[in-house]
Amino acid sequence: ARQFFVGGNFKMNGSNESITKIVEGLNQADLPANVQVVICPPAPYLGLAVAKNTQSTVEVGAQNVYTKASGAYTGEISPQQILDTGATWTLTGHSERRTLLKESDEFIAEKTKFALDSGIKVILCIGETLEERKSGVTLDVCARQLDAVSKIISDWKDIVIAYEPVWAIGTGLAATPEDAEETHKGIRDHLVKTIGADQAAAVRILYGGSVNGKNAPEFKDKANVDGFLVGGASLKPEFVDIIKSRL
Ligand code: 13P
Repeated sequence: ARQFFVGGNFKMNGSNESITKIVEGLNQADLPANVQVVICPPAPYLGLAVAKNTQSTVEVGAQNVYTKASGAYTGEISPQQILDTGATWTLTGHSERRTLLKESDEFIAEKTKFALDSGIKVILCIGETLEERKSGVTLDVCARQLDAVSKIISDWKDIVIAYEPVWAIGTGLAATPEDAEETHKGIRDHLVKTIGADQAAAVRILYGGSVNGKNAPEFKDKANVDGFLVGGASLKPEFVDIIKSRL
């Protein structure tokens, strides 16, 4: 069975004060021992989150990573530096970086590879835009984004996939559990062909996009929804409800 996983992507939000409060809130919560949690604060607060966290089931991740260990790459952060803060995960391929920062499938694949090679685990984000969904190419887009990665990475044990349809991110309009399940199933079927049946069966596929404390339990019986990647609600106390939504 795949372990339930909940990621919190704080995006470009927070301060010393608010992130301390969020982590202290998690510390005080009675978190289930069998749910894996990764919180991703902005890079300046990685060390703070690591230092404050007392929950053994909670790890800290970065939101972005570069493809080199060090050097003249102004503004970038290496996996080695992320590890040095005590963080152990990174996001790659978030739609906001694909769109606003014009990151290509290939660049995202390279980042994913270098992070893994450096000993960091990766939440790889994929997903289609509204136009793409309307044109019926959702699975083609997800396949293309995944194929760039499977082309250069054969071992997927430290990758978690986050399916985040762009139209559901920050809109309050989450995919229905049925729609999410259908796409997750399609993604897994595709992975059987590219990374093999065993790895495809083992890899976790999270749903992301307007997940909150209220709608999270509605995904409970969906066999291919192995957790969530949460944006806005990860900054709020209801993040704990999402973590507990499979109890
Ligand atoms: P929201 O939960 O705010 O819609 O954001 C989802 C997301 O982008 C997580 O990475």
